[in-house]
Amino acid sequence: MLQIIFEILHDYYGEQNWWPANDPFEIVVGSILTQNTNWRNVEKSIDALKKADVLFPDQILQLTDDQLQNLIYSSGFYKVKSKRLKSVCRLLVNEFDGSVEKMQSYDLSELRQLLLDTNGIGPETADDILLYAVGKPVFIIDTYTKRIFSRVGIGPSGDQYSDWQEFIMSNISENVDAYGEFHAHIVALAKERCKVKPICVGCPIFAYCSYARRESST
Ligand code: SF4
Repeated sequence: MLQIIFEILHDYYGEQNWWPANDPFEIVVGSILTQNTNWRNVEKSIDALKKADVLFPDQILQLTDDQLQNLIYSSGFYKVKSKRLKSVCRLLVNEFDGSVEKMQSYDLSELRQLLLDTNGIGPETADDILLYAVGKPVFIIDTYTKRIFSRVGIGPSGDQYSDWQEFIMSNISENVDAYGEFHAHIVALAKERCKVKPICVGCPIFAYCSYARRESST
């Protein structure tokens, strides 16, 4: 069933080519700034960092807290996020010579643990970075993923992040491009149709969805 949904969404939405960024470090920054805010606000912060010519790990570390907070103000929670940004920059500078590309030669689980041990990086942000910035085959679980597949009526027996991740990754073969596209398609479906109040009529996976069947029969 998951594979069928994967194919339907791929045909319906086409290539999404996520993540929208010019280089891997921009993806790392975006993955932290996007926590609890929408992408438009993140774009403003990234533009401000670019305009100030500081969108580099060592440059961000040289900014004062006030300077960094002003630059990322539009993303909200700017005090917390400035600390998180500096933490991930410190990890990059100390462990990888400031280069996201150097992370590629590391083992996935080792890299994931290093990220999870960094202030403010939870499983979803770690996997954003691993998949889209580093190019490791790991699937990102978010509230959209859980919402859609719970409504469809499929999923793991547990509800932990790792339960969902294992469920998806054991049903869709390991592939960076496929995982990146599938996550982007899930986000697109959740924003377009499978909202808190879903718009089921016209949904590309209507025929496979328990929620839609239940609602249309009442
Ligand atoms: S049919 Fe409705 S509930 Fe099911 S996935 Fe589509 S929008 Fe969500």
